[in-house]
Amino acid sequence: MNWITNYVRPRINSIFSRRETPENLWQKCDGCGTMLFHRELTENLNVCTSCGHHMVIVPRARLTALFDGGVFNEVAVPDPVADPLHFRDQKKYPDRKRAAQKSTGEKEAMLVATGEIGRTPIVAAAQDFSFMAGSMGMYVGNAIIAAAKEAVKLKRPLILFSAAGGARMQEGILSLMQMPRTTVAVQMLKEAGLPYIVVLTHPTTGGVTASYAMLGDVQIAEPGALICFAGPRVIEQTIREKLPEGFQRAEYLLEHGMLDRVTPRTELRDELITITRMLMNLPPEIKGDLPAPEAAAGT
Ligand SMILES: [Zn+2]
Repeated sequence: MNWITNYVRPRINSIFSRRETPENLWQKCDGCGTMLFHRELTENLNVCTSCGHHMVIVPRARLTALFDGGVFNEVAVPDPVADPLHFRDQKKYPDRKRAAQKSTGEKEAMLVATGEIGRTPIVAAAQDFSFMAGSMGMYVGNAIIAAAKEAVKLKRPLILFSAAGGARMQEGILSLMQMPRTTVAVQMLKEAGLPYIVVLTHPTTGGVTASYAMLGDVQIAEPGALICFAGPRVIEQTIREKLPEGFQRAEYLLEHGMLDRVTPRTELRDELITITRMLMNLPPEIKGDLPAPEAAAGT
């Protein structure tokens, strides 16, 4: 917001805004300010090629990069009740959800899929921060249960990528109920002796951190990811003290024993292949980019 947008009349304002580049061919890195060419950035999984800053990557792009040949099959997630509380803030909840669906092109804040990584069959679930801040509502709860059930049915490990602003307030207590529900889903995997691996991405907060995102057999985080229950600003305001440098960031949590690994996104796929194969007692992995498995078309 500057003096032009504040004070100049709408008609003149629209002339100014028309000056913006029509296609966003370049994206500015939030970390170092370098202008990055969008194709190069996409190829590097939205990690800055100059400073290594990890930008948001949507679940569909993440799963395409993860699975062999970019091939995966989506797992159907049962639809919950649409608007149980008839919640309304500045907007009605269904309107807010529709706007998120339009802007993301996704149905809800989590994508569940099956496929292979380095010829290792897995189930993966990825949360979408761009969809209503990745908030955990009943759909996300259903998605995690569907992912866990699929993993148990197919005897595969589950890899979950978390990204969330917390519980979805528009669903009130029903969103909080997803914490025990998803915890039970994770327990199903443990009872079946199947690995559950969590990759925490920026940011993972609130009720998500307090449930399924912290229950992995292996806890990995992407560099610089904010992982917390209450955010640093809230804590600072409450205790009226300055927090230590890097507090609640992935590297700080690794140093303090809350995580097992901090792994750059570009190395994540190979690492996940190694870990899942080790935990599933499979022979050493096949690394590198693999074409889509022919026999796996139906997996
Ligand atoms: Zn950068």
